[in-house]
Formats: sequence, structure tokens, C-alpha cells
Amino acid sequence: MLQLYVPLNFLGVMYRELKQSLVDVDKMFNLLHSAPDVLDAPDANELHVAHGRIEFKHVHFSYNPNRQILHDVSFVVEPNTTTAIVGKSGAGKSTLSRLLFRFYDIDAGDVLIDGQSIAKVTQTSLRRAIGIVPQDTVLFNDSLGYNIQYGRPDANATEVRAAASAAHLDDFLSRLPEGLDTAVGERGLKISGGEKQRVAIARTLLKNTPILIFDEATSALDSHAEKAIQSAFDDAARNRTTLIVAHRLSTIIHADQILVMEAGRIIERGTHAQLLAQNGSYAAMWAAQQEERTIEAVA
Ligand code: ADP
Ligand code: MG
Repeated sequence: MLQLYVPLNFLGVMYRELKQSLVDVDKMFNLLHSAPDVLDAPDANELHVAHGRIEFKHVHFSYNPNRQILHDVSFVVEPNTTTAIVGKSGAGKSTLSRLLFRFYDIDAGDVLIDGQSIAKVTQTSLRRAIGIVPQDTVLFNDSLGYNIQYGRPDANATEVRAAASAAHLDDFLSRLPEGLDTAVGERGLKISGGEKQRVAIARTLLKNTPILIFDEATSALDSHAEKAIQSAFDDAARNRTTLIVAHRLSTIIHADQILVMEAGRIIERGTHAQLLAQNGSYAAMWAAQQEERTIEAVA
């Protein structure tokens, strides 16, 4: 049976899970105690997403007053296109997605969705518009169906099934006698990292948001598992405005735009071909990863 009831603390859990998925767990404690509370403006309106255009306009941001993290970051993600963000660990990639969710307020500049400043809309309406597939998905000790339905608790069984299909889970489910009713988690079936991420994609697809973020969603997988879920990602990104934070550049070569970040700045931007032609940081990263792949293939 699908568990259809929603725990009373559902919103609290969801908010925590969202926050958690966007930060390192060991930073959680600190975060909860130090982040100033983001408040709705007294005259906040609902966010209306007609197209899903994202704009960061001269954004300056610091978590703590003595250390600026983002320096004058500007970019546009056009509706229904995919922007990939690449760069070393600590460059500020996840910070961009946290700011889009407005987990923090920025110091200067503006973040807009379809021309509406996200600081001026209700947080509920903002967060309803954005789905995220994080690096490490948390699965509940419950059925697969419940874990997918969590994306939208009022979805019916047909919708849950459709989301599972769209996330390329049909083959996997057909091998399970209990299908979506199979219990997973600590006391249930142990599932692979790739399957877990497909469940996360199904969960996010069920939420059916105009804006989608994948934050290193496949970094924990080996390149074989990553390849196997690539088409689920590509399908999910279709007809949505998508931000992908990627570690393996081979997964984002078809992105409409690639932003290369270093120390809180966008240092290069363009398509894969344009960036290779530029022969800068991106081209160097690409060359280094090609070499790794050759070594992997030989080993
Ligand atoms: P990336 O996702 O590119 O690896 P992040 O956006 O997570 O990088 O982090 C950018 C910088 O901000 C890093 O130097 C990181 O240490 C710092 N940082 C991230 N989260 C916090 C936080 N909650 N408080 C203070 N500094 C943080
Ligand atoms: Mg990150």
C-alpha cells in the first residue's frame, strides 16, 4: 500500500531535507544556528512563473561578514534551456542554488525569476517553483512509492507511476515482486546509488516544477552508472529551465551555456565548443578529464 497520509511535521521535515541536501551535513548545525532568518517581505506576492527565466544580476554574497563568497556574479538562464556550472570544490556553485532558493539573502544585486525579485515573493511560492536533485538523496525507511510521492503528497498512484517511468525506473521496478510497494532504506531493500538517484529524479519530476537543479547529482556514481541515468536527466530537463552543477564535464557538453566558476567569480562562459576554442580554464579541465578517462579505460 502506498502510504498516503502526510505527517504533521511534513513541512518541517521537507524544509530540513531541502536545506540538508544543499549543504554538507557537518555544516548543518552551524548553519541552523548562524544563518539569519530569511523573512517574507510584508507585501510579498506569489511568484508567477510564466516562462522560467532566471537572472542573477551583479550578485555579491557572503555567509559571514568577513569573507565574501560571490563577487559580482551575473548570468541569465533562458526559459527551457540548460546551464551547467563547473569549477573546483569551494568555487561557489552550490551557493548559487542556495541563493536561488533564497536560503540566504544577498548583500547586493538581485536574483530574478521571470522578472520578479525573489526577495519580494513569498518563500513558499518560490520553493514550490524549484525542484532539486542533490548529490546524496535521503531515502526514507518506507516504500519506493512513498519515497517518490514525497515530491508531491497529493499526487495519485497513476501520477507516481508516471514519474517512476519518466525517471527510467520501469526496468528496475519490474524486477521487484512488490514493485513500488517494496520497502527500501535500512530495514528494506538496499538499492544502488544509480537507482537511488533515479528515485530522486522521479520525486522531483512528480513535484513538476518549471525550474530544476541537479547539484552534483551523479558525482557519487561511477561513470558507468552515470551514463545509465543520463537519459533520465535529459528527459527531465526537457521543457524546463535547468541548472546542472557537474563534476564530470562529459555529462554537460550539450548544455546551452556553461559557466566556469573560480573563487566566487564566473571566469569563463560559453558553449562547450566555444570554451574549448578559448583554450582557457575549461579547456584545461577538459583535457585533464580526458586523460583520466583514458587511464580508466586502460585500467
Ligand atoms: P561548491 O559547491 O562550488 O563546492 P560552495 O558554494 O558550497 O562551493 O561553497 C563556496 C564557499 O562558501 C566555500 O569556500 C565554502 O567553504 C563556503 N561556505 C559554504 N557554505 C557555507 C556556510 N554555511 N557558512 C560559511 N561558509 C560557507
Ligand atoms: Mg557544491
